[in-house]
This record gives sequence, structure tokens and C-alpha cells, in this order.
Amino acid sequence: MFSIRVEFLTDDERLKKICHLYWELAEEPNFTHSVTSLARDFALSSRDLKAIVDENCNAFSSNHTCPRCEQPQIYTSRSEYQQKYRWGETDELCAVCVSEEREIQKAQRLAEIEHQRKIIQETFPLEPRKPLDIHSISFEDAVYLLAFVRIGASEDLSYFGPLSAVTQPLSPTESYNVEIVRQLFKNGLLIIHPMTPPDVFIFENGEPVSMGLPQVYWALTTGNDVEATRQLVIKLETTLRTKEWWPYRWHDQRLQLWRKVALNECLEYLAVVLKEHQLPLNFGEKTLLVVTELLESYSVGQAYNMIWRAGRDAAAFYMRERVAKQHAANTVVGSIQRQVDRARVERWELKPFKRDRRCPQSMVSQVLFNVALQIGQVGFDETPKLDD
Ligand SMILES: [Zn+2]
Repeated sequence: MFSIRVEFLTDDERLKKICHLYWELAEEPNFTHSVTSLARDFALSSRDLKAIVDENCNAFSSNHTCPRCEQPQIYTSRSEYQQKYRWGETDELCAVCVSEEREIQKAQRLAEIEHQRKIIQETFPLEPRKPLDIHSISFEDAVYLLAFVRIGASEDLSYFGPLSAVTQPLSPTESYNVEIVRQLFKNGLLIIHPMTPPDVFIFENGEPVSMGLPQVYWALTTGNDVEATRQLVIKLETTLRTKEWWPYRWHDQRLQLWRKVALNECLEYLAVVLKEHQLPLNFGEKTLLVVTELLESYSVGQAYNMIWRAGRDAAAFYMRERVAKQHAANTVVGSIQRQVDRARVERWELKPFKRDRRCPQSMVSQVLFNVALQIGQVGFDETPKLDD
């Protein structure tokens, strides 16, 4: 049912003969001559033989046609023919129809993307929202917003982000980054920019129902009013810088944010230390509890010291006892806790580490310590604590 018809593309009798013998069938799907014997008979390499055949003939199926254009299928190799023979009749399209089909699908996909782009533009307009009163937002949101603006603003302030494309760290950890942007969005301080590519959203019934947050482009509440955006950024920056202008609440909210940033700086360093010793990373509630508790009495710099020792001891434990890596990694939190307990009881003078070059200071940390609290390096070197 799959016998082969050969159409010659040459008048040269020798070449025609080679093509004929190459495609000659004994009993389907077996060929009369092996490639090796043919090549030898014509004093050619197998590769040259195949090249001559490819160039000088087309081998068609005499009864296997493309279901769309009804042209007989062309075989590009013996193995293709044999494969198709074994599988029996197929509804496979010919190469021409396959590429046509691909073009059609591509055009449909492009039309769909264009349609989705329109929907996004209608769903997320860029008109300025109600003017933002900086005094009405929390201290945390103010710090986050300025940090995000600083690392995410486009040159002309027309859009911000996406988070996945910013080159400086917003916060100490990836999960904290996402948490920050989600919070700013939820609290209405960032609005989705309609230039966000459609593939960032999941559409259901023609509507965007969810999105990949790190890929979203953002605008401030000032929308496409670039001058208002500029004014808002200046106002935000000067307000954070000028304690006298702070709403009273902000003073009560300072310490909480310092602790939160410090906690995340410790988690970032813990991840770096575990990775350095090739130990698995597995933070849970217990880790958060121990590090939070640690920061009641010690600075981030001192925490680095304890984390570094804990990592070193876990790695030594792993080498010495040949335990599983996970088991060794699990000792880290307990080890930090023991150090905290002993340091307190024995009143250790715990030497603070400096910032590690593998954990460069994030923008949230810079805005908090340098712009808002104006304590600079103290934010790292001293226990989170505010006197005034
Ligand atoms: Zn076809």
C-alpha cells in the first residue's frame, strides 16, 4: 500500500539509475539494495550516494497522500518511508501543509494577543487616580514605595518595574520582594500598567483573572500624568527625610519595620552560608522564631557571626558523622539558639560582622536606615532599638 514512485529530476542515465536502485523495493518495506552495497557498486561514499539521490529525484508514495492538499507524500529518507509503512495510513499533513498550518496558528495567536492587549488596556486604564495623601499611608508602605520607585523607575517616570527586570535588590530576599510589591498593589499605591504584556496574565472567559506579579509593569496612582508622578516622588522622598513632617503613627511603626528588614537580612545571610557549605535550604517557622528572638538582643552584624558559626559547625558535623545533608542543615537553627542562650548568660562580647559582599544592602534597607531613620550603619551594627 505504500509502494514508491520515483520522479527523476535529471536526464543523466547514471544518476537516474542510482536513484532507481536506491528506492527499489524488494518486499515492502525492505529495499532491494543496501546503501553500503550501492555505494560500493558506484564507487561512492554513502554520504555522496544519499546526496545524489536527494538532489536528483523525488520519491513519492503512490497512494499515500496529504489529507489536506491530496498531494502524494514525498519521502525524505528510507527510514521515513519504513516508519510510515509500519504505522500504516496516517493523517499526517505534507511539509507544505504543515508549514501553512503553522502560519495560520501563528496568525491566530498574534490576533489573540492583540485582542488581549486591547482588553488589558481597557481593564487597566492609566488615568490618574485620587491624589495620594502620603500622610494617610503606613510608614512601611512609604519606605517600600520609595525603595521600589528608586530601583524600578523608567527614565521618563512613565512606568515602574517589572520586579523581574530590576537589577538592584529591592529587599534582602526574593520572597520579600514579591511580598512588598503585592502589598503596594493591594494597598492601592501601585496600579497595573497597561503596557504589561498579555502573557503575564491568565485569561478566563476573556478576562484577566490573575497575573505573574514579578512580570507586571506598574504605574503610581498618578497614572500617565508624569509631572504629578514627579511631584509625588519628590514629596515622598522629602516627607520620609523630614521627621517633623511625619504623621505621628510613623514613629510607632519604625521599630517594627527595622526588625522586619533585619530579620530578612539574617535570612538572606543564612541562605548564603548554607549554600557555601552546600547544605540544603529549608526555612520554616522555627527559623523565623529563633532569628526574631535573636534580634531582640543582638544586631544583624552579631547575628551574622552566630549564623556563620552555626553553618561552619553544621558542615563539620556533616563531614565528621556522615549524616544526611538535610540532617546537618537542621542543626543550624538549634545551634543559633544555643549560641544566643549562652551569649546572654555568659555575657559574651559578640563581635559584629560587616556586611557580606554576597549580600549587598537592599534598597529597602538603604531607604529605611539612610533616608528615613538616618542612622546609616547603626541599622546593621546595633540591636533594633529606638530611644526617642
Ligand atoms: Zn499537503
